[in-house]
Amino acid sequence: MRNPLIAGNWKMNLSCQQGTDLVTSINAAMQETEVEVAVCCSSILLGCIGKAVENTGIKLGAQNMHWEEAGAFTGEISADMLLEAKVDYVIVGHSERRHIFGETDEMVNKKVVKALSKKITPIMCIGETLDEREAEETFSVLKRQLEEGIKGISPEEAKTMVIAYEPVWAIGTGKTATPEQANEAIGYIRSELEKLYGNPVSEEIRILYGGSVKPDNATEIMNCEEIDGALVGGASLKADDFIGIIQF
Ligand code: PEP
Repeated sequence: MRNPLIAGNWKMNLSCQQGTDLVTSINAAMQETEVEVAVCCSSILLGCIGKAVENTGIKLGAQNMHWEEAGAFTGEISADMLLEAKVDYVIVGHSERRHIFGETDEMVNKKVVKALSKKITPIMCIGETLDEREAEETFSVLKRQLEEGIKGISPEEAKTMVIAYEPVWAIGTGKTATPEQANEAIGYIRSELEKLYGNPVSEEIRILYGGSVKPDNATEIMNCEEIDGALVGGASLKADDFIGIIQF
């Protein structure tokens, strides 16, 4: 049985106080959910939000990380720095990092390898653009991003990671993939994982859906057989919306 995970991706939003207030509200609603809940804040908020989530069941996540141990990488943040902030998760390969900041599959892979070596759970995002979907390239894009992203990852490590299927056309657009589309893509990802790692391992890996998840579509998404949770952007910034999702 895979334990569902709902992770909020706050992106470049919220102050220390706003984030703390949000965590307080989420925590008050935690008794009424069975799912694991995480909030992924910007690097500068990790200390503040790390304090806010202490003694709650809420996990802490970062939104990015560099693959090198340390050194001359101005503006970057290392795995050890994330560990010092007591981070559980790190989002890797989000489409905004890929499309705005030029992150390649190779860079995503180096980050996934590094995170796993430090026992930080990567949430590796993969997903097709609208053009790719319309050109019927969805599965080939997912296969490439998946295979390149997890290159060199052992079955033992793979079991612990999280994958998020995030169709780029559904992120921040208000357009949600239908539950059938999301379920089909996630089923495909799992079947590729099975080819790479065999069945017991592929059955353990959690695969989330992300793309305009809201309280009013969370139930049908979370009820899909293949879907193990959600990565939530916009709706994770408002307490009522995020609580509505975690209590789907
Ligand atoms: C995201 O940024 O990962 C995301 C899914 O955003 P939104 O929920 O706003 O579409």
